[in-house]
Amino acid sequence: MTGKLFGTTGVRKVYGEEFDLEMALNLGRSLGTFLGKGTVVIARDARTTGLMVADALTAGVLSTGVNVVRAGIIPTPTLAFITKHLGFDAGLMVTASHNPPKYTGVKFWSRNSMGFTSTEESRLEEIYNSNGFKVANWDELGKESRLESAVDEHIETLLMRCDAGAIRSKEFRVIVDPGNGSACVHTPYLMQRLNCHVVTINGQLDGHFPGRQSEPDEESLGDLIQMIQKTGADLGIAHDGDADRVVFVTEQGEVIRGDRTIALLAQQAMMQAKDSRVVTTVDSSFALDETVVKAGGKMIRTPVGDIQVAMKVAEVNAVIGGEACGVFIFPEVHLAPEPFLAACRVLELMATTGKSFGELIAAVPQYPLLKRKIDCPNEKKQPVMKALIDLLPERMTGVKQVLTVDGLGITLEKGWVLVRPSGTEPVIRITCESQTKESVEEITRTVEAVVQSSIASA
Ligand code: MG
Repeated sequence: MTGKLFGTTGVRKVYGEEFDLEMALNLGRSLGTFLGKGTVVIARDARTTGLMVADALTAGVLSTGVNVVRAGIIPTPTLAFITKHLGFDAGLMVTASHNPPKYTGVKFWSRNSMGFTSTEESRLEEIYNSNGFKVANWDELGKESRLESAVDEHIETLLMRCDAGAIRSKEFRVIVDPGNGSACVHTPYLMQRLNCHVVTINGQLDGHFPGRQSEPDEESLGDLIQMIQKTGADLGIAHDGDADRVVFVTEQGEVIRGDRTIALLAQQAMMQAKDSRVVTTVDSSFALDETVVKAGGKMIRTPVGDIQVAMKVAEVNAVIGGEACGVFIFPEVHLAPEPFLAACRVLELMATTGKSFGELIAAVPQYPLLKRKIDCPNEKKQPVMKALIDLLPERMTGVKQVLTVDGLGITLEKGWVLVRPSGTEPVIRITCESQTKESVEEITRTVEAVVQSSIASA
């Protein structure tokens, strides 16, 4: 079990309230003690607290005799990529992903480019709580050096993994919205290398995220949508604060949910390798299953979280994995989210088929989705979730799979249900999908009733 230091992915907390520099220092000491020797690469996103936290982590790691290479402000996927590509023993990313600007955090990456598993995080937490840190002598401390070429090395690899020639010949007009996050230093340059006409909005690094909220969705991407509609651009690309997520917007200004784009890219991957496996989380559309099965592949579902997807992708040797929130994993490159290759592959499809992104995505069916928020006092969340694991699957019909890591996910014959306690508000969130409006309403009503009665009796 992951303890209270680590959340869904790494440590993510409000700076000054739940997180201070001593924690960063001791996290660095914990990682150094965990590794015993070798070299760690440390990078950060654009948050105002980033440099300070990275400095404290660095001090902690160096004090154990482990070396540190500093890679500056880069996207999380670039950090994961160079960790594997340049053979570091671990990677540390100072980021709070898409959380509001007052948050900070640390995400840990293994040498195989996968995020630390809960087993590895538990081991780190044990060291952290024990205070039993390795202390190196003054003449055996780790050495610090710098790496300036991380983004360039990443981009060179991406260009070799797509049909860059085909994309270049089309001179696509692309609007990039990095949301003032670390994609500012990556996506616009990648697009330039692909001979695209690039316009970037919210393109200056700024830890206050002045342009928009860091999570890219329909609500936060108003400027990007307008810009596409006004300029007649071919594609919109938007990222979250640390750029491990990407959301694509059609030439009509429609924001496309990640699971539909995964369906498109899975289809593309399976043209070379039929009978392939595709991995996604419980909250992806059933349309993805249909697309994959039709193309001759097999769909595998995991609990929510990109680490869950990455572990399953490695285990079943899948061609692609991803999450509806905009995570794409291409094991041919690494096991971290790879939004940049996803962008290249979308452009490649547009170039080779001659179709617009909107036309391509129209071929992926779309089913109705319903979301509900139910008030639940924080102290009741745990007992309620525990009760639901037994109660809810019994009340549903056509249950295919029940997943209980980080919430309760139920895969149905033709749809799914996800129930999760909010990490920030006193509410429990319900999301359901089914093939018709009537059936999704019926499923949601049933789930709502069971959740409400569980809260009442908790
Ligand atoms: Mg993120």
